[in-house]
Amino acid sequence: MASFDGFEYDVLIVGSGAGGGMAAHILTEAGIKVLMLEAGRDYDPVEETPMFQMNHEAPLRGESTSDKNFGYFDATVDGGWEVPGEPYTNAEGTTFRWWRARMLGGRTNHFGRYVPRFNDRDFKPFTHDGLGVDWPLDYDEMQPWYDKTEKLVGVSGNNPGVYDVPDSGEGVLQPHAKPRVYELLVEAACKKLGLPIVPMRRAVLTRAQDTREACFNATDCGRGCSIGAAFQTTTSVIPWAKDTGNLKVVTDAMVKEVHLSDDGKASGVTFVNRKNMQDVRVDADYVILAASACETARLMLNSTSEKFPNGLANSSGQVGRNLMDSTGADFTGYIPALEGRPKYNEDGLAGNHLYIPWWDYEGQDDGSVKFKRGYHLEIGGGFGEPGMGTGNGADGYGKSAKDQIRKKYGSGIYFALRGEMVVNENCYCEIDPDVKDKWGIPVLKFHWKWSDEEYNQVAHGMEWTEKLIKAMGGYVTSPKRTPEEALLPGGLIIHEVGTTRMGDDPATSVTNKWGQTWDVDNLYIMDGGVFASNPHKNCTITILTLAMKNATKLAEEIKNA
Ligand SMILES: Cc1cc2nc3c(=O)[nH]c(=O)nc-3n(C[C@H](O)[C@H](O)[C@H](O)COP(=O)(O)OP(=O)(O)OC[C@H]3O[C@@H](n4cnc5c(N)ncnc54)[C@H](O)[C@@H]3O)c2cc1C
Ligand code: SF4
Repeated sequence: MASFDGFEYDVLIVGSGAGGGMAAHILTEAGIKVLMLEAGRDYDPVEETPMFQMNHEAPLRGESTSDKNFGYFDATVDGGWEVPGEPYTNAEGTTFRWWRARMLGGRTNHFGRYVPRFNDRDFKPFTHDGLGVDWPLDYDEMQPWYDKTEKLVGVSGNNPGVYDVPDSGEGVLQPHAKPRVYELLVEAACKKLGLPIVPMRRAVLTRAQDTREACFNATDCGRGCSIGAAFQTTTSVIPWAKDTGNLKVVTDAMVKEVHLSDDGKASGVTFVNRKNMQDVRVDADYVILAASACETARLMLNSTSEKFPNGLANSSGQVGRNLMDSTGADFTGYIPALEGRPKYNEDGLAGNHLYIPWWDYEGQDDGSVKFKRGYHLEIGGGFGEPGMGTGNGADGYGKSAKDQIRKKYGSGIYFALRGEMVVNENCYCEIDPDVKDKWGIPVLKFHWKWSDEEYNQVAHGMEWTEKLIKAMGGYVTSPKRTPEEALLPGGLIIHEVGTTRMGDDPATSVTNKWGQTWDVDNLYIMDGGVFASNPHKNCTITILTLAMKNATKLAEEIKNA
């Protein structure tokens, strides 16, 4: 057993977000002692969540700024597309944006809580279309773990009988939120066009569960949820793990290197204490990296030794490679049928209650659809809290302007395409030899290039969202764009995965299907780095599920050792 500050532990975990938080919960429940190192500061969602403040109380009416990318009240601490003193670089001709959060719980404190699970085809993409690689596991193996994870996390939704949306087990899901008026209008348009539309699976409790309350449908989940209804590790798995007495969390601990012993094992890490800039070395018998896909790759690439001159556990050369994000493109329309309707509270959960899952697997198989991987459409609209841009399109002054704003308020519609990209060799991260962050740690340089697969997918989404808007009796308000212009830059959808992928073959993958690195058998990876592909379904429920499954196996191994 290793020890730090008087605390003895079996496992050291780097990172407290989705992967690290779940791993800590599973291990500590099994009686394993865990030391968790988190780069960000401590964060108490009960004390710090600005749930009830109104936009008009904030500077610039709560608008987004460069240091608060999702608005003044967003939960993110010391994070965003840019983190002060912690740069990253882009190779010439490349744009990749990297979102980080420097706080206990990482990005789970403010993620959108969209949590659709993958289906059988998602785990075997190469078998279906010959592109990329298959996962070394299949849906049947994952299915019971998805059920357990959804039950623990608290997921609302239903089993709609749509292939893209596999059923959860009996009694797993909580009741879903009711559709809003504009979502019912989209539903009617989908019926006309023959598209499916179903409740979005959300990591939001609609009924109280364990230590957490049920959602009261009134506040912006992106600010965090102090009552624990919206899943975040800081109101669930981390406090539960602390309650066992088996977890010690050290915040402000920026891990810079993982050490290797002479016998080829991970022997511990060095972190920078962010409060006094001192290096601290800690030992470990087992190390789990869950610092998020790109941070974990960076840490491994920065951990060089005689045995691994290109980075720890990187004999395959795949650490940092195979970087994937979701595709993203936004389409807007205006729906006159929604004009002038009575004003009432339409808050619900932040984000959509219904969404359109991918529908045309058949077209992909018979070649009539000109891209290989699917997408889904998230829906926005309705009476959001007025902000700076509300009423932008109004003409004139005084009463006539106000009348127009009231009439048009809530009549805009918005479709967000979120799709699967196909892994390609032009997308990866590596260490930039010329730049260090304020802790003296070499930073990442990103390389990024979309392929025709993604452009064709966006062209398809553009066509179908226009059909949807027209079927609702509306007109498109997005500017006319080519697919190349409409597709958002890599990293912008914040689903980056794949940089330490799992596989069956140590020559082409970094870990086995348990997240255990092929090269260093006491080193595990439990974040999205292990994904072998990036299905269009938002990645976090699968990060959580893999962490639950793999930490359960590790706990058994440690107990049997
Ligand atoms: C605004 C927003 C909306 C999103 N919406 C969704 C959604 O609806 N659905 C979905 O599935 N996903 C969504 N995501 C993505 C989701 O947040 C991530 O997939 C998920 O949090 C990743 O979990 P993780 O454990 O890998 O990383 P994180 O949650 O980022 O946690 C990693 C932690 O490790 C710490 N860390 C990093 N480096 C080090 C180091 N060197 N030493 C010590 N600690 C370190 C970080 O500070 C962080 O706390 C969203 C993200 C954002 C930002
Ligand atoms: S809407 Fe519900 S889940 Fe979201 S922050 Fe409010 S109470 Fe929490």
